[in-house]
Amino acid sequence: MSDSTAHPRNDAENRDATDPLASLRTQFVIPDEKLIYLDGNSLGRLPKASLDRVQEVVAGEWGDRLIRSWNERWQTLPQTVGDFLGQHFLGAAAGQVVVSDSTSVNLYKLASAALDARPDRTVIVSDLNNFPTDRYVLEGLAAARGLELKLVEFDELLGPTADQLRPVLDDRTALVSLSQVDYRSSALADLASVNQVVHDAGALALWDLCHSAGSVPIELDATGTDFAVGCTYKYLNGGPGSPAFLYANASLIDAVRQPIWGWYGQRDQFAMGQGYDPVASASRFLVGTPQVVGVSLVDSGARVLAEAGIKPLRDKGVALTEFAIELFDAWLAPIGFSLGSPRDAAVRGSHISVRHPEAYRICRALIEQHDVIPDFREPDRVRLGMAPSTTRFVDVWDAFDAMRRIVETKAYEQIDPTRTEVT
Ligand SMILES: *Cc1c(COP(=O)(O)O)cnc(C)c1O
Repeated sequence: MSDSTAHPRNDAENRDATDPLASLRTQFVIPDEKLIYLDGNSLGRLPKASLDRVQEVVAGEWGDRLIRSWNERWQTLPQTVGDFLGQHFLGAAAGQVVVSDSTSVNLYKLASAALDARPDRTVIVSDLNNFPTDRYVLEGLAAARGLELKLVEFDELLGPTADQLRPVLDDRTALVSLSQVDYRSSALADLASVNQVVHDAGALALWDLCHSAGSVPIELDATGTDFAVGCTYKYLNGGPGSPAFLYANASLIDAVRQPIWGWYGQRDQFAMGQGYDPVASASRFLVGTPQVVGVSLVDSGARVLAEAGIKPLRDKGVALTEFAIELFDAWLAPIGFSLGSPRDAAVRGSHISVRHPEAYRICRALIEQHDVIPDFREPDRVRLGMAPSTTRFVDVWDAFDAMRRIVETKAYEQIDPTRTEVT
């Protein structure tokens, strides 16, 4: 058995006792204190403020105010909540971010707009191991337009870097679409240097921020980012299927058009006039009537985090993943695990992956035998999301202690190796 005396549990308790964000957890609904939830990077926890907000929106704004609420509150929600995200999490000045649709749909709209802006170019570049929906959307666009989709295999622990991209890009490249944080390894890409090589080639950059927004400070304006999309139901705690955000750099907005010409992108929408004439802000990427309940919960969720501040959240995310790697080295490395994430916190997001040939059954054993919820990612990763808003150091300690015991006692052998649908 590996030795826990060098890392006693009260070491984790002490870290919680001095954690400046410890009280943030009390602002979330946590019905089961024994459940160790390490999947806040996939579905963030429910903020108490969102329970109040849903009551307010559904009973008050809908039930009582009815259609009057469009003018009183709803009509500008995609922009006001977008600007709020821009200010607190994305480093984006007003008018460039809106909340609407899903990440996949927003990716399609922005990628189309970017390709239309580079009509003489024929190549889209992405990451061979990018999140699947990103690859499929780009594959569909390439097929529809007769373009080539070039999928580059980047070093998993480095993520996409300027040096790896430079030789791939040339004057045929129209668009480079990448994720800022790798959903498997957690590798954190450097927006500024990648944007620079993309621009040097005359192409446009479109970033997927799903696994970074709300856990890593992002500076879209300062890094010269062209376009970005991201989920709000992960670290931003917007709730299951909450609408996504999109960002379009102000310098490009006038020159680009999205493929779905809906009335919510129209200048002077309620003139109901002839001919599509899109507004001069990111609102031109809106299509139809906003999902009011969903956007309202994005707002209430984001406000809880904004109050804590993205910098303290990032500091805690780093401290949690550093602690996890310390325990990994002490307990898991000696018993057949390998680390699937960068060791340098500066280039790592807020989750880590540990790899083991029996990862699937270890993951199930964590859930079924230990009340620990991580997730499994093919082929051999246990992914542990440490949402800085609600994860405690003792949660990390307990989860790693459970993994170590599952492997040492071979408890995973009791688990059926058949895959379930959502892991
Ligand atoms: C979660 C995630 C998505 C999900 O997109 P949806 O349209 O919300 O289903 C897309 N990209 C990345 C990188 C993700 O992590």
